[in-house]
Amino acid sequence: MNVTTTIPAGYGFQNFANDGCARAGVLHTAHGKLETPAFMTVGTAGTVKAMTADAVRSTGCQCVRGNTYHLMLRPGADRIAALGGLHSFMDWPGPILTDSGGFQVMSLAALRKIDRDGVTFQSHIDGSHHRLTPAICMDLQYKFDSTITMALDECTAFPAAHDAAEASMEISMRWADLSKQSFRPRPGYALFGIVQGSIYKDLRHRSVNALRDIGFDGYAVGGLAVGEGQAAMLETLDATVPLLPEEAPRYLMGVGTPDDILSAVERGIDMFDCVIPTRAGRTARAYTTSGVHNLRNARFAGDPAPLDPGCGCPACTRHSRAYRHQLFRAGEMLGPMLLTWHNISYYQTLMRGIRASIQAGEFASHAAGLRADWKRQETSR
Ligand SMILES: [Zn+2]
Repeated sequence: MNVTTTIPAGYGFQNFANDGCARAGVLHTAHGKLETPAFMTVGTAGTVKAMTADAVRSTGCQCVRGNTYHLMLRPGADRIAALGGLHSFMDWPGPILTDSGGFQVMSLAALRKIDRDGVTFQSHIDGSHHRLTPAICMDLQYKFDSTITMALDECTAFPAAHDAAEASMEISMRWADLSKQSFRPRPGYALFGIVQGSIYKDLRHRSVNALRDIGFDGYAVGGLAVGEGQAAMLETLDATVPLLPEEAPRYLMGVGTPDDILSAVERGIDMFDCVIPTRAGRTARAYTTSGVHNLRNARFAGDPAPLDPGCGCPACTRHSRAYRHQLFRAGEMLGPMLLTWHNISYYQTLMRGIRASIQAGEFASHAAGLRADWKRQETSR
């Protein structure tokens, strides 16, 4: 473990503890700090679904991840800018990271057409026509007042043949360069580049080199958790993360389960985001220290115990499993609200534990303990 104490002004990443490849640090931004390894809660359309901003803060979450695609279509970047930016619009003064919109254009928009300079598509909401180029993408995120802006990329579909993955990666690297040229730097704000290349190590290597040549404030690994499976994802990280600059934060996009996160931290990833805790919260799936439970299950109907006895979230300290079961069975909106609150709390508690173990130089034993618990829960189910 090595320790440094310099705190940079404005934006800066301070990596103050290493344990194996795992790192604990702090990302300083114009909107406050983000302790890493960090899990960013997904706030797609200017809100974390089913949560007030105060509730999100109470879980210990320090950064919300917004969606450029959704926000550009509704309510629009100019409107958000006119209303003072996304921080004041959604009452989240802390750091906000917005994605480039590329992923949603590929997965949601109709009639999308990619060319060398960008992508043209129709809104999934009203069929209106839109165009996203690196320059437009940078302008949108500037208007949102995003603390961390993501370069425009094409998330390569999976599976992809080597040729197709190579062509897609090359487009993303061209867009990364154009994004950097259009990004307007401000103190405490950052621009991250995104490594692509599917599961091909040579392509990932070339992508990292291209991004390092351009130079970014942080590096994301994109195009994973798209169906390749955990083993291929981890192999890709093994081939990618050691090539990334040590002094910059590393963000694994769209990941993942607690086990995915632990395995990626082990490989030197600092930041994560995923819909799992919030989406699961709306569908009665509870992440707890005793395993993943479906609260609709009849065995909870008369259970007076708290959902997760060790959890300090209001839902666990005030309500029984039986009450939560009742809320979901009756279709009450408080069910998703309370369970989202709990699931985000579970993820933030997981990250706090991981950070503390890295700082104490005990990450390996902490990870082994968590894995033993998860294995026991799986076999007892
Ligand atoms: Zn709880």
